[in-house]
Amino acid sequence: MNIDMERYIRQLMIPYFGEEAQEKLLSSKVLIVGAGGLGSPVIMYLSSAGVGELTIVDFDAVEKTNLQRQVIHAGKIGWNKAESAMEFVSKLNPDVYVRTLKEKIEPGNVMDIINGHDLVVSCPDNFRTRFLLNDACRIKGIPLIHGAIFEFEGEAMTITDSSPCYRCLYPEAYPEKTPGIIGATAGVIGSIQAVEAIKVLTGLGDLLDCLLRVDLLSMELFKIEIKRRDDCPICNGRLRQIYPENYEDSCRIVTY
Ligand SMILES: [Zn+2]
Repeated sequence: MNIDMERYIRQLMIPYFGEEAQEKLLSSKVLIVGAGGLGSPVIMYLSSAGVGELTIVDFDAVEKTNLQRQVIHAGKIGWNKAESAMEFVSKLNPDVYVRTLKEKIEPGNVMDIINGHDLVVSCPDNFRTRFLLNDACRIKGIPLIHGAIFEFEGEAMTITDSSPCYRCLYPEAYPEKTPGIIGATAGVIGSIQAVEAIKVLTGLGDLLDCLLRVDLLSMELFKIEIKRRDDCPICNGRLRQIYPENYEDSCRIVTY
């Protein structure tokens, strides 16, 4: 592999980062689900940092109303978002290999889609996809980085085999409507997800061991301790497969 390391000089200068961490990034495969408001900074910072392979999943097309926060799609109204993201990465860092999937994450494809990745970054705009990724990643033992945003607020959580999971936080979905969002809020939370991803892949630093809630209107950050729920079917190991009926309506687990 002929990689231009000069590109990464400013991160190589960090004494505890160095070439060893860079090599880990270059040999990593990351799945990013959603190339929207959160996906934009995640895609920007993971590709520019030199993550070797990115799989970008998005079935949606770029609309004018997206550009206020989905900044990687500039000038590409009408493009598929995964394709647009790939084109963005090819200009920012051509050394990154990008694979695109123009499909929705569903119970029937989620296990195949996450397979073979070192890490999954969750950037969708709905509970159902978050539950699917949470359950599938825990069954497969793949670390998952959750992020979500609302107006000036956001949250992030890193989910590993030894942490509580997203269902410990939210056992089921609550009614959603399209939220208003300040674009920079997506930038803050997506950047936190990107930093967590770099730490998972390199083994550096301490991962978020709580739910991080950020209110950018009052500029308050909250680290909220989440405990494993005894009745969580993911954490107690009872759920071993993806069953479609667990992702209907409230997404509560009804079948093991
Ligand atoms: Zn759990």
